[in-house]
Amino acid sequence: MNNKTVKIVGAGLAGCEAALTLASLGVDVVLYDIKPKQYTPAHKSPNFAELVCSNSLKSDTTEFATGVLKQELRTLNSFVLGCAYKAQIPAGKTLTVDREIFSSEVTKLIKGNSKIKFVCEEIDSFDNTTPTIIATGPLTTPKLSQYLSKKLGLSLYFYDAVAPIISADSIDYSKVFIANKFDNLDGDYINCPLTKQQYEDFVSNLTTAQRVPLKSFEDEKVFEGCMPVEVMAKRELNALRCGPLKAQGLVMPNGQQPYACVQLRKEDALGTAYNMVGFQTNLTFPEQKRIFTTIPGLEKTEFLRYGVMHRNSYINAPKLLNSYFQLKQQNNVFFAGQISGIEGYVESIASGLIVGLEMYCYINNLPILNFTTNTALGALANYLQAANPNNFQPMHINWGLFAPIDCPKQLKKEKIAERSKNYISNIYKEISKWKLEEQQ
Ligand SMILES: Cc1cc2nc3c(=O)[nH]c(=O)nc-3n(C[C@H](O)[C@H](O)[C@H](O)COP(=O)(O)OP(=O)(O)OC[C@H]3O[C@@H](n4cnc5c(N)ncnc54)[C@H](O)[C@@H]3O)c2cc1C
Repeated sequence: MNNKTVKIVGAGLAGCEAALTLASLGVDVVLYDIKPKQYTPAHKSPNFAELVCSNSLKSDTTEFATGVLKQELRTLNSFVLGCAYKAQIPAGKTLTVDREIFSSEVTKLIKGNSKIKFVCEEIDSFDNTTPTIIATGPLTTPKLSQYLSKKLGLSLYFYDAVAPIISADSIDYSKVFIANKFDNLDGDYINCPLTKQQYEDFVSNLTTAQRVPLKSFEDEKVFEGCMPVEVMAKRELNALRCGPLKAQGLVMPNGQQPYACVQLRKEDALGTAYNMVGFQTNLTFPEQKRIFTTIPGLEKTEFLRYGVMHRNSYINAPKLLNSYFQLKQQNNVFFAGQISGIEGYVESIASGLIVGLEMYCYINNLPILNFTTNTALGALANYLQAANPNNFQPMHINWGLFAPIDCPKQLKKEKIAERSKNYISNIYKEISKWKLEEQQ
C-alpha cells in the first residue's frame, strides 16, 4: 500500500497508541516529544505514556461504560491497554497500575518497533501536506498552544487537580481498616473513618484554607469531573460525604458504617505509597499538611507528593473536527487524546486507537471506519462532533453517549455491552483484512 510516513506529535497515551497501531499496519511513523530534554509542569519521567495523576484506569467491568470501552480496546488489541494489564496491581474491580512499570512497558514497545522513529523535539506548527497527528495533551507547550490559538482559535481552558501521595509506613494502622466498598473480601483500600464531629471540623478547616493563587493567564473555571476537595467542601456541608468521603458500602471492624471515610489506594506494586482517593487539591503545601494530617490515621503522614492544579488546554472539537478526529479545514491533520476534547486516561488511549485507524484509511484512500454510536469508541468520537460548540466541555465515556437501546431499564447496560461486542468484532474483521493485505 502507500509509503507515506505519518508524523505524530506527543508520546503520551494517545500518541503512543496511535503510533503502535499505525506501525502494526505497516506504516512508518516519526514520533516527537519534548521529553526527556524538556518537561511539561506535570510530567517527570523520561518514559512515554506517563500517568500524571491517579494510577487508576477506572472500573474494569461492563457494569460501567468505561468497562465497555476497555472491552472494545481489548478486542482490537490496544497496545497501551495491554501494557496496563501487564502493570496491573490489585485494587478491587478497577484497573490500577504500577505507573513506572506501565510507562516502561509502553516505552519498550515504542523503542523496539522498527517502524517507529523517535525524535526528541518540540513541535510548534504543522504543514498542509504531511499526515500529522497532534497528541500533545492537556499541557501542550506554550509555543504550539499559541500556534493552535492563532490558526484554529484554541480559546478554551480548564483545570485539573492532582491528589497527594503518602508513604505507607507513615500511616497509623491502629486507626484505619482495610476493605473494599461492598465487598467482604480482605480488600485493597486503606480506610480512614471519621466521626460526625471530625468530619465537620475537617470541612470547616477546608473551607477557610489557603489555596495557591492562580496565574495571570488562569481563571477560576473548575473542571467538574476533577473538582478540588476544598472547592467541593465550600459547596455544601455534606458534599464531601456524597463524594470522596462517602462511606456507603464500608463496614468497620466493629460492624458499623463510618460517618465519613477517606480511602487510600495503592500507588505501586510493593504498596509503599498510597494515593488519597478523590483528593485533588490546590491548597498550598503547608495547608495540605496541616489539614490532611487531621484525618484519623494520617496524623504523622509523610507526603511523597503534594496535590497540585494545572491548566489544561483542549480545542473546540465540535467547531473544528469531524467525528473521526480529523481537522475539517485541513484533512491531513488529526487530533488525538485530551487536546481533542475527550477526557481521561482510557479515553485518551481509545482516541489514539481510533485516530491511528482513521489515519490509515486517510493515507490509503480507504472509506473511513464507522464505529457508530453502538460502540463506546464511536460514541466518544461522535460526542466531539455532536456537542454544543458554544459551551464545549471535555467528556469521559458514559452511558448517555451510546445510541439508545430498546429494552427494559434493568437490562440496558448489559444489552449495550452485548451490542458493542458484535459491532466491534466486525470492525476487528475489517482491520484483520487490512493486515493480511499489507503482508501480501
Ligand atoms: C494534572 C493532570 C492530572 C490528570 N489526572 C487524571 C486522572 O487522574 N485520571 C484520568 O483519567 N485523567 C487524568 N488527566 C487527564 C488525561 O487523561 C491525561 O492528561 C492523559 O495523560 C492525556 O493523555 P494524552 O495522550 O492526551 O496526553 P499526555 O499523556 O499528556 O501526552 C502528551 C505528550 O505530549 C508531549 N508534548 C506536549 N507538547 C509538545 C510539543 N509541542 N511537541 C512535542 N511534544 C509535546 C508531552 O511531553 C507529553 O509526553 C489529568 C490531566 C492532568 C493535566
